[in-house]
Amino acid sequence: MGSVINLSYHKRLFLMLLGFSWSIVLCFVAFQYPREKQYKLNSLNLKLQMYNRHLIEVMEDGLSYEEYIAAHKKPFEELRITIIAPSGVVIYDNTLALDSLDNHLNRPEIASAIKEGAGYHVGRQSTSDGRDYFYSATRGNQAIIRSAIPYSSTLQELLMADWSFLWVMILISLVMSILAYFTTRRLGKNIERLNRFADKAKKGESFDEEEPFPNDELGSISNHIVQLYAQWQQTIKDRDQAHEAAMREEQEKILIKRQLTNNINHELKTPVASIQVCLETLLSGISLSEEKRQELIERCYTHNERLRRLLGDVSLITRMEDGNALISKERISLNEILTEIADELEILPENERMTLHTKFDQQVIIEGNLSLIGSIFQNLTDNAIAYSEGKNIYISLISNTATECHIRFEDDGCGIEEKQLNRLFERFYRVDKGRSRQKGGTGLGLAIVKHAVQFHGGTITASNRPEGGLRFDFTLQKPPIDPDL
Ligand code: ATP
Ligand code: MG
Repeated sequence: MGSVINLSYHKRLFLMLLGFSWSIVLCFVAFQYPREKQYKLNSLNLKLQMYNRHLIEVMEDGLSYEEYIAAHKKPFEELRITIIAPSGVVIYDNTLALDSLDNHLNRPEIASAIKEGAGYHVGRQSTSDGRDYFYSATRGNQAIIRSAIPYSSTLQELLMADWSFLWVMILISLVMSILAYFTTRRLGKNIERLNRFADKAKKGESFDEEEPFPNDELGSISNHIVQLYAQWQQTIKDRDQAHEAAMREEQEKILIKRQLTNNINHELKTPVASIQVCLETLLSGISLSEEKRQELIERCYTHNERLRRLLGDVSLITRMEDGNALISKERISLNEILTEIADELEILPENERMTLHTKFDQQVIIEGNLSLIGSIFQNLTDNAIAYSEGKNIYISLISNTATECHIRFEDDGCGIEEKQLNRLFERFYRVDKGRSRQKGGTGLGLAIVKHAVQFHGGTITASNRPEGGLRFDFTLQKPPIDPDL
């Protein structure tokens, strides 16, 4: 019983159809076989009856039946003909002696011939010669004619039902079974797939079979279910991914903060220690020349200035990271900022001065934070002056669309080594540490520039100019300007 339950849907359906179709065949055979047999008997009877009737006609025409029997061809080779008087007495028999035959009135075929005009009977043991016969009797006006053929094996074969219809039935059933096998297999396959899907869904596994279900009712229901499941899984996946991303971001933030704190500590150490030494010397009571005192105080001032700038930078970066909302936006003309930079360069001492070449053929207005945009240009200019050892600064507008502008900032100095280029924007990264610190640099300038660019929806890259010098390419998003403003 268990094995039946374990059978696949396809097999069960197929076996059921097989059972149905073969029972139909069996029922048909059971019904048709006796009919067929009866038909055979009837047609044999009909042949003998025809012969009987001819004989009756001969008798009624007053002709000699003996002559007729002797002269005419019989329907069967071994035909026994008996003529019986209405009283049941046998008056003629072509194979047996008359005195050996008793009254035939109660023989079944004779009885029905008397009653209904004709009758037949099979297989009775003849008292006369001990053989089985097929008897067919017909009533005439003067006598009853009975013809009989021995019930031999050939006759039996003749009377056998014709089985050719059975072969046709079997053939049709076989074809039907094969067809049933394939149609149920198709149906069963889909049910099995749906079952597999349900199994996988239960275990929470993904079900990414590319092949969709066929285009029938079951198929479309299945497709719907699979789609719903896929959507549901996608939602879970998205949620997990979003969660993971949020966690990663959170951890990254924590890591960056920790790095920042470490770096700040490191950067604070030198100026704080120097200030400490200067102040200790000043307070120690050692007599110092006025010049020396002045120098120590100036050194304190320089270091303090460095500390102040460092704190300013750190707080700017933190502000940018923590809350963009705190940074206000306004309409800014980049052309104006460039003019200011040019003015500032003018007043620099001769040895530090660089010439600014601008290629800004149009007004560029963006909506952004003035101090951040200013710090982009300021930091790049300061760096060019401090480290490039070049004479010229080039600022060009590469492209300016309704949504974005692309700006290039270059100097014609020494540039930096290729491998250092992508580390340039890291916090506290300095190419030539000694020289940079000497110039008061903390290594935060380009980190601030990058943040400021990103705050304005842009990107920044650094490269070496083919002609020598450093090149910065950056973009700034220009949120659409409200015409009413
Ligand atoms: P801060 O800007 O915070 O005062 P900093 O100038 O040292 O410090 P960044 O502005 O980030 O820091 O610059 C990083 C390093 O990149 C500098 O220390 C310098 O070595 C190198 N650098 C920056 N700009 C140029 C340039 N135009 N030419 C050559 N080297 C440069
Ligand atoms: Mg700098």
